[in-house]
Amino acid sequence: MPDLRSLYQEIIVDHNRRPRNFHTLPDANRTAEGNNPLCGDRLTVYMKVEGGVIRDIGFVGSGCAISTASASLMTESLLGKTELEADSIFGGFHALVAGTGSAARTGLGKLEAFSGVREFPARVKCATLAWHAARAAMKTPGGTASTE
Ligand code: ZN
Repeated sequence: MPDLRSLYQEIIVDHNRRPRNFHTLPDANRTAEGNNPLCGDRLTVYMKVEGGVIRDIGFVGSGCAISTASASLMTESLLGKTELEADSIFGGFHALVAGTGSAARTGLGKLEAFSGVREFPARVKCATLAWHAARAAMKTPGGTASTE
């Protein structure tokens, strides 16, 4: 059995206790909700996108430690990035937690703390929820991302 301690890395514990960018954005022009009924994770992602660049980003909601920490690190990772870069980071993160594709994880930085998630398939949805919501916000503003 995989060790649960490998799942709850220090950085994940820290971001769950003190989520970064945990607020709404009054001037957001992109929002999307994420819902993971299997675990009970719900969150809303807010973005201010100008000229294809994510100028500001925040989220609110409640969920398990993995979903909250992932949302927090997602906002840190995507702030200031272009939508194309965000898509690329999403792809790398998804491959990391799903354990698919090559080990091309260069540039994921802190996000590599989630590599243990691949040993717990049920938690992949927790880890990717905020990312699906962020992508939904970019593709269809006001959309909803569900893991189901
Ligand atoms: Zn969860």
